[in-house]
Amino acid sequence: MSDSSKRTDPEKEKRKIKSVQKMKEIMTNYYIEAKGAADTGKKVAWITSGGPVEPLIAMDVIPVYPENHGAMIGASKMGIELCEKAEEMGYPRELCSYARADIGCAVTDGGPIGGLPRPDFLVCCNNICGTVMKWYEVAARYYNVPLFILDTPFTHREFPPAAKQYVIDQIYEYIAFLEENCGKKMDYDRMQEVGRLSVEGLRLWQAVLDSGAHKPAPMTAFDAFFHLALIVTLRGTQEAVDYYRQLRDEMQERINQGIGMVPNEKYRLLWDNLPVWYRTKWLSEKFASHDACLVADTYTSAWSGVLPYIDENNFLETMAVAYSQVYINVSLDIMIDTLRRLIKKYDVDGLVMHSNRSCKPYSLGQYDLQKIVMEELKIPTLILEADMVDERSFSESQIETRIDAFMETLKS
Ligand code: SF4
Repeated sequence: MSDSSKRTDPEKEKRKIKSVQKMKEIMTNYYIEAKGAADTGKKVAWITSGGPVEPLIAMDVIPVYPENHGAMIGASKMGIELCEKAEEMGYPRELCSYARADIGCAVTDGGPIGGLPRPDFLVCCNNICGTVMKWYEVAARYYNVPLFILDTPFTHREFPPAAKQYVIDQIYEYIAFLEENCGKKMDYDRMQEVGRLSVEGLRLWQAVLDSGAHKPAPMTAFDAFFHLALIVTLRGTQEAVDYYRQLRDEMQERINQGIGMVPNEKYRLLWDNLPVWYRTKWLSEKFASHDACLVADTYTSAWSGVLPYIDENNFLETMAVAYSQVYINVSLDIMIDTLRRLIKKYDVDGLVMHSNRSCKPYSLGQYDLQKIVMEELKIPTLILEADMVDERSFSESQIETRIDAFMETLKS
């Protein structure tokens, strides 16, 4: 018997999600294809994470997500060096660390995959923030490529018909932009099929997230952060559908066998905001050491959260409304409705909010949400101040103390 097999812990092995390997293979192949696009003649478009990717897939354009790349930079703990590079160029530390890390990467070809493939054009949707507008303008100038901006009005309560028509009109302008830059016409039958695959993938992803409602939860929000990558990058493809079907089935199998991700799950928590990419393992172990499981989060459910607005038989026009309703393009009134729904659905005991120095639209308003959750729902809450990519904003001792104190409150 080898040394390594002697060290294998069967309990840990049992809890490992088997689909992880498949996910890594798909993402590796995706980036190999994207980086080799110049050799295959395929076009590459950079697109924001909340942008409507389906028309790109229908036009055989490879979508590349600087934010997903930013997450990889964070998880690889390369954020500081790349953020500092952008700061040397004059970008302030207050700027989103995804933007800083990607800008630092663009001029150095550094980072975990040696930089992103050069874009043929850019697609920016401001349904996530205003930062992306300036970031993509900078990228368009740097690479000297065309930029399409899709402007989605903010939703306070209702989304009025005029706003809906405004976004629908832009969807057709977007298609015209793609036709011009790809030198071919949109195949609307193909577009409809991509829309159907997108909806199917989103439903399966939601089914995966729903598994967290089971006690014990077969996966945690930390697992969801990892498995989210395909719903972001390959939404609208058969590959994403097949993968999430496999993952959903694996979750069901774990439920059938009573396998929970946290060995002695006693406390169920909801996470708000983006992950702290460079500390997911540490945070996961820290909460697990208190028998606490993060069973759901507002971030990974943001993509499938718009499903009620989509009619797959009229995908193009209904997606205009759906893409305008993503979690951070809505008012606090709507956000609190989402929190209420998640707290009830997953039967959580506490809420953990990552006050993310980088992401202002996600973090502004968290103190108001915290107040409502505590007063109305009587749920203890914890706010952790950090940053998703820039480790300079993470104080381990302070966060550890806060988590320990919060867990003591929950236990008492
Ligand atoms: S500010 Fe927030 S929403 Fe905007 S790019 Fe950065 S992380 Fe994403």
